[in-house]
Amino acid sequence: MKALVYKSTGQLALEEKAKPALIATTDAIIKITKTTICGTDLHILKGDVKEVAYGTTLGHEGIGIVEETGNAVSNFKKGDHVLISCITSCGKCDYCRKGMYSHCREGGWILGHLIDGTQAEYVRIPYADTSLYHIPADTNEESLVMLSDILPTGYECGVLNGQVQPGTTVAIVGAGPIGLAALTTAQFFTPAAIIMIDTDSNRLEVAQSMGATHTINSSQENVIESVMALTDGEGVDTAMEAVGIPATFELCTHLIKPGGKVANIGVHGKSVSLALEDLWSKNITITTRLVDTSTTPMLLKSVSSQHLDPASFITHRFKLSEIETAYKTFGNAAKEKALKVIISNE
Ligand code: ZN
Ligand code: ZN
Repeated sequence: MKALVYKSTGQLALEEKAKPALIATTDAIIKITKTTICGTDLHILKGDVKEVAYGTTLGHEGIGIVEETGNAVSNFKKGDHVLISCITSCGKCDYCRKGMYSHCREGGWILGHLIDGTQAEYVRIPYADTSLYHIPADTNEESLVMLSDILPTGYECGVLNGQVQPGTTVAIVGAGPIGLAALTTAQFFTPAAIIMIDTDSNRLEVAQSMGATHTINSSQENVIESVMALTDGEGVDTAMEAVGIPATFELCTHLIKPGGKVANIGVHGKSVSLALEDLWSKNITITTRLVDTSTTPMLLKSVSSQHLDPASFITHRFKLSEIETAYKTFGNAAKEKALKVIISNE
């Protein structure tokens, strides 16, 4: 089969690889129909995620059709259309029993990280019963690729941890797919204002079309002054960090009012400075989280009931044979006006 392989830092290639086989009785083999590329895959390619071995098939998002199941798999059978969660969970360990699947002792984020991932014709999914979801009939299947990672990530790490409530004010720093996923799902709670902050005017336009009440181009405006002007000089109730660099995290700590929450979503590779001399008395909360995907069933229902339309995140489509070009397009997201690219298995 064809698979997109991480060869070495900065190098990837679509190669012929052996089709995965069942290893444990709890495994399933899935024929991938659609997958996508995540910002995290670009971090891996840059060499930021050291534990990814050369030769690993990348990708932790996708949908597909069950090809084969181990004897212990009871929820899924050959031919079922399934959504693959970016988080693998055994369902039995202490973390899984708490709903903290991201820290599953047997799983967590392993796809396209510690084991071969979804940017291939087939993938082996461990603990299939608790790591796959049935795709409801009559849904736009392709759009559900956004439920593997970005929508649960924006919702759990940003909206739930940031405690967005009706009437509150929210700032989201970063209008990439994850920031936009937080913007979209924050609207479940009808906040009074959602201010999107980015350096890319195209992404801010998209944010406006997805429900942002205000946008701030941080390459043209002083963000702190603009946010204060929009919030009667007080700051916001919730600031979400959706970039993953020190400057944007530190910015979030300056945007919140007393009692405010900074909800980190970004993947960070460097230390940040925390102005604790200003913050110690402000009753603030800072949260971090690796997505658990515990809200995926709820998000699937929101898509079915048309309260959530993940199709609006898709800007480009490629075949698996064109995946190297897809990486280039996604890697030049601002110039290409790319949000999420869909890779189809021809
Ligand atoms: Zn991802
Ligand atoms: Zn577990």
